[in-house]
Amino acid sequence: MSGAPRLADGARRLVAATNNGGKLREFRRLLVAHRWDVVSLAEAGWTGALHEPGVTYAENALAKAAAVSAALQLPALADDSGIEVDALHGWPGPLSARWLGPNATDEERLAGLVAEVDRRCPGERHVRYVCVVAFCRPGAEPVIAHGECLGTLTEPCGDGGFGYDPAFLSDDLGVTFGAATDVDKDRVSHRARALRRLAESGVLDPTLGAP
Ligand code: IMP
Repeated sequence: MSGAPRLADGARRLVAATNNGGKLREFRRLLVAHRWDVVSLAEAGWTGALHEPGVTYAENALAKAAAVSAALQLPALADDSGIEVDALHGWPGPLSARWLGPNATDEERLAGLVAEVDRRCPGERHVRYVCVVAFCRPGAEPVIAHGECLGTLTEPCGDGGFGYDPAFLSDDLGVTFGAATDVDKDRVSHRARALRRLAESGVLDPTLGAP
């Protein structure tokens, strides 16, 4: 595997191409089993901005991972993710972080989404989380994987996770992601499923291409 420095304990280092602390924590938890040491953009010395120039999750995830991997000459992982309201044809989807404007807080977006659903499609609270991850390494083809999990928008409960988690009542767990333990969220989340798919492609195997 080119461009992946090996650490003393045999793990390899990748850069999480994200400014979202919640995603960074989840990448770290989920990739430890694959023996990847996940470093943040700041730890890797990245001082640039991350752009999401596309309209799809895949375009945006790829743009972020490719830019960071090329600039730092290291493996980089990015995700683009969002929450989709079935009755609103997947809205807000890739706009989940931005639909209420650039300065809105997580709490404002969460309350705003519940209000929008009640106004535009009352009673139709079925939602899904979608995550597309892109893994880029110097000199290798990028690999993209997709994961989803289903749920219902509910009154906020719990303060775990991040973003919309307190209002996402998971079909798999029967509690909101805000009230779930990290271990439980990591069993069923859209991000865990996308990373499981990525791992199935073999690309995360730290023994591949070892010197
Ligand atoms: P982006 O991928 O950086 O464009 O942002 C995705 C947005 O979707 C986040 O800011 C959250 O609002 C939401 N989101 C995606 N995944 C999760 C999750 O696991 N928990 C809570 N919110 C999420």
